[in-house]
Amino acid sequence: MIQRPLFFANWKMNHGPTEARAYMAAFLNFFSPRTDRTVAMFPPALSLSSARDARGDRTDILLGVQNIHTQVKGAFTGENSAPMARDAGATLSLVGHSERRHVFGETNLDAARKLSIAQQFSLTPVLCVGETLDQRELGDAERVVVEQLQIGIDQIESSALASIIIAYEPVWAIGTGRSATPEDASAMHRVIRAMLRQLAGEASDSVPILYGGSVNVKNAESLLRADGVDGLLVGSACLDPEAWAQICRT
Ligand code: PEP
Repeated sequence: MIQRPLFFANWKMNHGPTEARAYMAAFLNFFSPRTDRTVAMFPPALSLSSARDARGDRTDILLGVQNIHTQVKGAFTGENSAPMARDAGATLSLVGHSERRHVFGETNLDAARKLSIAQQFSLTPVLCVGETLDQRELGDAERVVVEQLQIGIDQIESSALASIIIAYEPVWAIGTGRSATPEDASAMHRVIRAMLRQLAGEASDSVPILYGGSVNVKNAESLLRADGVDGLLVGSACLDPEAWAQICRT
């Protein structure tokens, strides 16, 4: 059960299995269970089962995988599939994160395939969308985000659309220390909400839309208060369990 607001921690390529255990133990100390929000960790795939074991009975903390392959199994050296992630403890999967798109060359079509396979294996997909600085400066931000959204969800039935999560993460804000203003975040969240409505009607109102990009202890509250922001996807500022617990209490 996903309860808004959502606080999602993308560990990226940090915290191997041993560190993951220590991190989870520390975080659970700093953060007591709450029913008025959803907290999830996205460790590297190698650390997922350690994080799950360290979580113990604190199943209020959800686990997700940062990336999955479009296939279920086979000769894809170095990759991880949706059922494997599920087996290791994930119930969520990031799809089309900016680093997957811009460092590893993933396309909107790749994201669509991953979103669909995630759903087939009961992983709730978190579709990440966002424009580059050039695209924003050219006035192309909305078009890019709408296209990422349209193609990303194209391979699922509209009835399945209610069980996805969207994260608006402008590329220029990720890991740069320069977050979007609450107003800019709200403006794009409105565009995304309107697009979802158009594609799936009122059922899409339950789809949470998160903001991500240089969220930290200082700006978390104002971003979370921004109209249309249902939660936060956080990278750098989640790496310290105490700071992350503080953000999760926002
Ligand atoms: C991210 O990786 O999704 C992210 C938002 O990173 P950061 O918080 O470091 O900008």
